[in-house]
Amino acid sequence: MKRIMIFCIPAHGHTNPILPVAKELVSRGDAVRFYSFDEFRDKIVQTGAEFISCDRFLSKLSAQEEENMKNVNITEMSIQDIRITIKMTDFLDSEYKTFQPDAVYSDSACFWGKLSAWKHHVPLVVSTSTFAFNQMSSQYMKNTPKEIAALMFGLPRVQKECRKLQSYGYEAKGFLSLVQSDNETDSVVYTSKRFQPYAESFSDRYAFVGPSVFSERTPEKRSRPLVYISLGTVINERPDFYSRCIEALRNEPVDVIISCGKALDVRTFGALPENVSVFPYVNQLDVLAETSVFITHCGMNSVSESLYMASPMVLYPQTNEQYAVARRAAEMGAGELLKDDSAAGIRDAVLNILQHSEYAEAAKKCSEDFRACSGAKGAADHIENAPHSSAGKDVIQALNRAVVREQIIFNVLVILLACILFRIISIKYLWIYIAVSVLLSAPLKNRFQQMYYQKLTAGAQKE
Ligand code: UDP
Repeated sequence: MKRIMIFCIPAHGHTNPILPVAKELVSRGDAVRFYSFDEFRDKIVQTGAEFISCDRFLSKLSAQEEENMKNVNITEMSIQDIRITIKMTDFLDSEYKTFQPDAVYSDSACFWGKLSAWKHHVPLVVSTSTFAFNQMSSQYMKNTPKEIAALMFGLPRVQKECRKLQSYGYEAKGFLSLVQSDNETDSVVYTSKRFQPYAESFSDRYAFVGPSVFSERTPEKRSRPLVYISLGTVINERPDFYSRCIEALRNEPVDVIISCGKALDVRTFGALPENVSVFPYVNQLDVLAETSVFITHCGMNSVSESLYMASPMVLYPQTNEQYAVARRAAEMGAGELLKDDSAAGIRDAVLNILQHSEYAEAAKKCSEDFRACSGAKGAADHIENAPHSSAGKDVIQALNRAVVREQIIFNVLVILLACILFRIISIKYLWIYIAVSVLLSAPLKNRFQQMYYQKLTAGAQKE
């Protein structure tokens, strides 16, 4: 019997995949303490784990902070995470002392779980409810210049908060060590190796266990197609979008279910057409089992659940992370990005998926792949047997060495070319030359990384 502490942030998308894992650990006779928040009490108690409420450590947020959190602002979320960690210090110190855990299972965005495990030298396994993101897979995200600027300007504030952690005995090697996946940390990722982008760049310390779902159901599609629409549980207050979906599909030979989120009043939509139903929340897995097209915001859980139930998707991502998930689903052939979110655009996108069976076939292939993964059992094995070691080569280290070599060669060539060019053209054009070289440097580096990755992992990818 092992003693295991589980930590998670207050978010459905992060909590849900941990639940089947907690249940599996409990069924093996492990003593499991799940540190979470009152909103999730019932779900957690049902797994058999001991629920420990952490609501008293949440701070009262200002209106601006609340708004930033709603918009998934990384700076704000990190600062709040650090503040909660500091507030929890005495409580956690005493919990570790009395419970004496053998392992900690912490959500990747839950700083207090990770930091307390490092502080008390207990083997840590990270629960990753999105893709695992390292320097390769994060290329799937599409950062706008505004987001990059917000992150850069926010970084000094986060670093300042990070420094405070040290005086509470936490070892924070910097902000990046708290948020990025690295090859030295044991991790469970709720997707298959096939679906994870650049899977071969992750070490053996990663277990890709497939989507973690609480459902025995297999897909059973209705004869009259069902279109299911949800923007998840976080950024879902979009009455305008739901109304356009209703407009788009009211006269089509399909049934429509919309999960509009608990913040909206269903009556907002007035009298509904006969073929449309709107709910604040549904049992998504049950609905997806019967769904022919899912219009989704591309949260990792929603897309995984959709593919698990072999439902192709209209992909409507709202954040960077969701964009990465959408891109991968589209690469697999199981969906199309919604480029035009007008009523006409939504109708065309849905009909396109219904009329081309390739989308459903690709989703079915993903479903088979997901169902062949080790699931909650694999995750529980990985937690019980932590810490792990990694025998294979570290692809990221090899890539970094190659990139340094490439950058040196690139810079030498730029200087040599400059020496030749400025014999022919005037030195006053120097700034244009420098600007072009700088602009080319990053895309060339990315391209080089991708090519070198293909070369390094060619054998593994063929398997
Ligand atoms: N969910 C649900 N019913 C709903 C809406 C969402 O059960 O009506 C669940 C869904 O099954 C998924 C989670 O909430 O497990 C949403 O997670 P996701 O990562 O897709 O998006 P987020 O809410 O974190 O943006």
